[in-house]
This record gives sequence, structure tokens and C-alpha cells, in this order.
Amino acid sequence: MANDCEASQARQAGTSSAAAKPLSVEAASAQLLAAARAIEDREQLPAMDCLGRVLAEPVISGTDLPGWDNSAMDGYALRVADLHASDGWLPISQRITAGQCGAPLAPGTAARIFTGAPLPEGADTVVVQEVCTPERDGLRIDAKISADIRTGDNIRRRGEELQAGSQVLAAGTRLGPQHLGLAAGVGAAQLQVYRRLRVAVLASGDELVMPGDPLGPGQIYNSNRFLFRALLQGLGCEVIDLGIVKDDREATLAALSQAAEQADLVMASGGVSVGEEDHVRPAVEQLGSLDLWRVAMKPGKPLAFGRIGETPFIGSPGNPVSLFVTFCLFARPFIERMQGISAAGLPTPLMLPAGFELTKPVKRRDYQRARLEIDATGKASVQRFHSTSSAALSSLTWANGLVMIPIGETIAIGDPVAFLPFAELIPGCTLP
Ligand code: AMP
Ligand code: MG
Repeated sequence: MANDCEASQARQAGTSSAAAKPLSVEAASAQLLAAARAIEDREQLPAMDCLGRVLAEPVISGTDLPGWDNSAMDGYALRVADLHASDGWLPISQRITAGQCGAPLAPGTAARIFTGAPLPEGADTVVVQEVCTPERDGLRIDAKISADIRTGDNIRRRGEELQAGSQVLAAGTRLGPQHLGLAAGVGAAQLQVYRRLRVAVLASGDELVMPGDPLGPGQIYNSNRFLFRALLQGLGCEVIDLGIVKDDREATLAALSQAAEQADLVMASGGVSVGEEDHVRPAVEQLGSLDLWRVAMKPGKPLAFGRIGETPFIGSPGNPVSLFVTFCLFARPFIERMQGISAAGLPTPLMLPAGFELTKPVKRRDYQRARLEIDATGKASVQRFHSTSSAALSSLTWANGLVMIPIGETIAIGDPVAFLPFAELIPGCTLP
């Protein structure tokens, strides 16, 4: 596969250097991430309230896991030697349920035991109940089954998963259900997390109307406000929604200054191109600084990055698909870094067979809307949407990912192509 990222250097193509080579996606991402500063403010919260938050301090286990040798199954705890010395029948001397501690196991007997119950001292195996037959006040185990029973069967040993004092979750981890379950399992009631990142969003454009309001001639509904809010909420951000800002210099300046005062990051859609009706770009330049990056990709060129005072600013083109793609590839890792996640970066694609042909090579790396399809035999292939229009939001609801088409390549059916599942791109999304 052609390496289109090598074609561009890690060099910035600012507004002043319109003739400069476009940035590769990798170079743009690296530059953006280098400018991201993690917020420092943290808070201690009940672990119950930490879903989606980012750990500011590691979680250290307060206990061995398991805390003691215990049974992995419902069955009978016994000594292998006692079973082999018997005629296949052992009396039951005690019953141990989860949450109880039994007595040491009397020689020549078995203990009825349940999953998670502590193993009685002296027992060295647990025989699952399915292979035992209750008989009188004891149990019978067939000789053929008995021959296969080994010391240690169905026993979870103390500390076999982890030891008291060991780190179970690193700082910088986003807390999903599995992390919260583990934190609880080692006894953490409170967690140190970063405070929520505050992100201000605005959608610029005179043509924008909110759904529910009457649509006049030449007007369109404001999709980006919904995209922004949902994408940011999925990342656990506090959204400061400044709504629609008219194509007017004063209104744009006022909205952006207000946004920068309240937020850790300001994001805008529309108005960042170089037309005279693009007011976001000159307003950010007036309030701080702005670079318009010509990223060698489609959709998504140009991407605006700057500062309003000290507050970082990311501006994306107004077309909703451009907003979506630039958000997923660039803004999301930037936000994750600000939230304290150290591993944030470009997603890694899956290489899967193309279910389509491309005979005419693309000039910029193309992120086309694509579907991972699995046929009746379980074979996977990547299909692409019939249109590459960056205004067509229906392409995104048809798709379950993006296919990355490198510059200058042609593709035949069955060729490996780089697929980015939405599950990797959209927070909280799974493949439909
Ligand atoms: P702009 O980047 O402002 O030149 O806008 C590019 C295209 O995206 C235009 O066709 C706009 O009408 C459209 N657009 C801009 N903002 C939005 C929005 N919030 N929702 C839907 N489409 C938009
Ligand atoms: Mg506009």
C-alpha cells in the first residue's frame, strides 16, 4: 500500500503559507496532540458515579484476589487421597455456602461446597456436583471419574489473580463498566478522577435553523449542533452549547470570547474557510491565533486549530460529514489528551477484503463511508457508500465505519483495505 503519509512532512501549512505542501493526517494529528495539555483539576468521587471519567490516580488493590482459596464450582471439597482410599463413597461432614467459613475437613469425609465459598482446610480438590451421586448421607463417585480427579481441580487460589498492594488500574484510564467492577472488587469506594472537560460548541451560519422552527427559503436544519453535543457527551464532556451564531463578525467575536472564558476547549463548525462569509476564522485570529491546516484528506480539509487567549480552538468545515470525520480523527484524541488519557491517538484500522472496486485513484487520502458486511458463511467484506458527498449525513447512518483510501491506489475486489469501525471512532458505539 502506498505510504501517503511519507509524502508530507510534519510541517505546518499556516494561512500565510498557502503554497506549502498539505499536512499528512499523521503529521496533523501529531502536531495537534503535541499542543494538548491535560487538565489538572481532579476530584474524589464515589466509584459509583465514575462511569466514563478518567482516573487521575492509579487504583491499588487493598486485598488479594481471591482473598482466600475458594471453590470455582458447586460440588464437594475433599482430599484426593481419601477418595482413592475409599470404595467411591465418602460421608458428607459439613456444608459451606458462599460467605461462610467451614471447619477443617474431617479426614475421610467430603464437604458440600458452593461457588465462591472458602475451601476448608485440608481439602485439596473440588469435585463438581454433576459427577457425584448423593447416596445415604454422603456421595458416590464412579471409579472412572475418580481416576481423572486431580489435586487443585476447581479451586481458585488466594492471590492468583492479583495481590494486595498491586496496581490494578493505571492513571489515565477511562472508566468503563469493567474498570468499575474491578475497582469495586479490590475495595475502592472512592476514586480520584479528573474533573469533566468543559467544551463550548457553536455552529456558524446564517442558513441554520433549529428543527422545530419554520424553515425559510435557502435555510437548512442545524445538524452539527446535534452531532457536536452527542459526540462530546459520549466522551464524558460537559457541553457549553452556544447554539447558532450568525455570519456576522461582531456576533462571532462575542460568542467566541464568551466560549473561551467558560470552556477548556472551544469548537466551531462552519465559517473557517477563506470566503468573505467565513467569520469564525478572522474572529479567532483577532482574539488569539489560528492556523488553517491543509490536511491531505477528504473530507475534512481545512482543519482550523488555534487559541482564543489561552483556550485551544478547533474549527471544522460546516459540512456535517466533514465535521464528523475530523471530530473522530483529530478532535477526539485531542479531547482525550486534555481529559488525561495518555494513550490517545489516531485509531488503528482493521485490514479487511474490499467488496468494491476503485479504478480511479484519489488525490487526497479519502475516508469514505463504509460498511463491514458479514455474509452467511461468515466472510467479511467492506462495502462503500455510493456517494462521497460530505453533505450527505445519510451516508453515516448507512455506514458502520470508514474505509481509508490511500492516495494513488486502485483497489480490486478482495484487496485488503483499511477499515475504521465506528466502534473505534464514536464513543459508546458498537457495530450494528
Ligand atoms: P461552511 O464551512 O460554513 O462554508 O459550510 C459548508 C457547508 O456546510 C454549507 O453547505 C453549510 O450550509 C453546511 N453547514 C454549515 N453548518 C451546518 C450545520 N450546523 N448543520 C448542517 N449543515 C451545515
Ligand atoms: Mg458558512
